[in-house]
Amino acid sequence: MKKFDVVVIGAGPAGYVAAIRCAQLGLSTAVADKWIGKDGKPAPGGTCLNVGCIPSKALLESSEQFYQAAHKFESHGIRFKGIDVDVPAMIQRKDKVVQTLTSGVQYLLKKNGIAWLPGEAKLLSPQSIEVAPHGGGQPDAIEARYIIIATGSSPRELPNVPLDGAQIVDSTGALEFKSVPGNLVIIGAGVIGLELGSVWKRLGSKVVLLEAMDSFLPMVDDQIAQAAQKEFEHQGLDIRLGARVLSGKAGRKKVAVTYEDSKGAHEIECDNLVVAVGRKPNTERLNAEGVGLLLDERGFIHVDDYCRTNLPNVFAIGDVVRGPMLAHKGSEEGVMVAERLAGEQTRINYDVIPWVIYTAPEIAWVGKTERQLKQAARPYKTGVFPLSASGRAKAMAETAGLVKVISDAANDRILGVHMFAPSASELIMEAVVAMEFAASTEDIQRIVHAHPSISEAFHEAALAVDGRSLHI
Ligand code: FAD
Ligand code: NAD
Repeated sequence: MKKFDVVVIGAGPAGYVAAIRCAQLGLSTAVADKWIGKDGKPAPGGTCLNVGCIPSKALLESSEQFYQAAHKFESHGIRFKGIDVDVPAMIQRKDKVVQTLTSGVQYLLKKNGIAWLPGEAKLLSPQSIEVAPHGGGQPDAIEARYIIIATGSSPRELPNVPLDGAQIVDSTGALEFKSVPGNLVIIGAGVIGLELGSVWKRLGSKVVLLEAMDSFLPMVDDQIAQAAQKEFEHQGLDIRLGARVLSGKAGRKKVAVTYEDSKGAHEIECDNLVVAVGRKPNTERLNAEGVGLLLDERGFIHVDDYCRTNLPNVFAIGDVVRGPMLAHKGSEEGVMVAERLAGEQTRINYDVIPWVIYTAPEIAWVGKTERQLKQAARPYKTGVFPLSASGRAKAMAETAGLVKVISDAANDRILGVHMFAPSASELIMEAVVAMEFAASTEDIQRIVHAHPSISEAFHEAALAVDGRSLHI
């Protein structure tokens, strides 16, 4: 039996980062992963690199460039004739980006002396696992002082909407369309629905989003969600709230979708249907019950604040445990567990994890929303700055959106920052750093911000908290 200090199950952003940090700290480490890439070879990187964060951002970038060229260049005085989308070339570029990054992870594992075990793993005991190699053959038994489970998540399916991998697909299939669907229906107006809906809308699809909830993006601050819904509808996304899907059936050419809302039952036809209704943890095939590993009622592995499971020396991180399903959250949990195994006291500030939705403009936030503070009866003050008053946004012709700062009414400490702005994924990090250092809005008010820049909108929103706005 092979022996290691640590064996990690799953090489997504949680697992491979945990493995690298373990190896850096001198622990002998192995990582098992069952993912097979588009080229038919084992590929580390998990959902994020293979079919998630990276390929979706590659297509968001390509589609935005097309949209700018087709619809926005003229307002800058740039005219040209004939513009076309080559979807296979776009998908090929996306695949190349993915392939470069997954082989980069493979290189990092090797460089750090981490044993790479391609195949499906299951728990044999709290200190051993078995890895079944791809294509059959004798499973490898591995013994380790510590096991870190990072098996991630998979798309949730709907019982009356069977996927066929062509007309009816999940998020993975929606990254692989061979041409632009004429009519695209997406079930779920959440993060994936909006990002992938934006990709295909920009390329020319008519996109309908069917969302079961009555409110749009309920986890986002209400003011930002309202502005975003208005802007996305202006961009042409047909967002239908309170729409409960009853069925989706692929026909010879079209897909029939039935749903009901407050006005009754409806049927629509489309060329492609995407199911984007959330994700479920990958715990079904781990033999959790066999070794006594505690799962919660939704199948997530039960862990404490330090990612310790109920079994001594078994840890779990990333999408397979509670908390937001975000790559950076999983990676930080990987670092925390590795460092604690090496005797350090690392912890994560779960209150200050940034979220980004990569629409145009991007939605980004950190900390509390107004609704959460109202529910907690915590007195707060707010400041808002619209992008329409930003010189840089005007120069960029990107004036939709706003930045909002929420701070404690008693001591001025920043409690939440919410943005709907170009490059909000980058801008939000100023707020994250500020909150990690327990900054007040006055701290931000007194920091010199470069002009002209979109970051001035954050400065102005902080000024607005105390009625001190300068440019509105
Ligand atoms: P995963 O990335 O799911 O990796 C788990 C790995 O474990 C997989 O490789 C799997 O094959 C392997 N595995 C599972 N079971 C076994 C087993 N029994 N044996 C061996 N191996 C096993 N997050 C962001 O932060 N930013 C984004 O922009 C973003 N965009 C996304 C876009 C899309 C379309 C999707 C679907 C997700 C996106 N996410 C994004 C979410 C992000 O992908 C996940 O939060 C992240 O991948 C979770 O990392 P993980 O390591 O926990 O799990
Ligand atoms: P989500 O939870 O963001 O959205 C799913 C939506 O589907 C919800 O609004 C839900 O109300 C709706 N829904 C559920 N059942 C439905 C039904 N039967 N009919 C109609 N609507 C229904 O989930 P997602 O968009 O699938 O994404 C999964 C997770 O992946 C996200 O929560 C996020 O953690 C992660 N992700 C992150 C990013 C990012 O960070 N930019 C991007 C993509 C995915």
